[in-house]
Amino acid sequence: MHPDNPTNTAPLCTIPCNLCGGTDIDILATGDRNRQPLQTVICRACGLVWTDPRPPAEATRKFYAEQYRQQYKATLQPKLKHVYRDMLRAIQRFKRIESLLQPGMHLLDIGAGGGFFPYVVKQKGFAVTGLELLIAFLQAYIFTFLSILFVSACAHPEH
Ligand SMILES: [Zn+2]
Repeated sequence: MHPDNPTNTAPLCTIPCNLCGGTDIDILATGDRNRQPLQTVICRACGLVWTDPRPPAEATRKFYAEQYRQQYKATLQPKLKHVYRDMLRAIQRFKRIESLLQPGMHLLDIGAGGGFFPYVVKQKGFAVTGLELLIAFLQAYIFTFLSILFVSACAHPEH
C-alpha cells in the first residue's frame, strides 16, 4: 500500500500522462537511487514513465545544474576513457540519424553533456545547438576534450 493512498485503490496520479492523457498508473518506485523520496509511475495505457508528483521546477533546475553529476558519478572531472567513449558514442549517434538529415537543418541536442554530439554534428556541416544545465560538468568536459585535441594536434601537426 502506498503511503499517499491508504485506501489501497488505484494509485494516485497528479499529472496526466503526457503521451495519451491517461491517469491509470502503476507506481514503479517511491525513491530515487539514494533512497530520497521520488515517485516514478508508469501509464497503464501506453507505458510512458514519469516522475509524479514532479518536484518544483526550480528544485529540478538546481539539481541538474549543481548536483546531478556529483551524485551519479561522484565527480565533475571525467576520466579520459569516458571522454573517448563519449566521442565514439556521438559518432555512432550521428551515423544513426545521418540518412534523415537534409542540408540546412539545425539540430538541437537537449542534455548535451560534454557537447560531443554537437561537436560531431558541426564537423559534418550542420548547424547545432547543445543545451546542458550542468555547467560545471560541461566546463570540466570541455577542458578535458580540448586538452586531448591540443595534444593530438601537437602530435599530428599536419592535421
Ligand atoms: Zn499514457
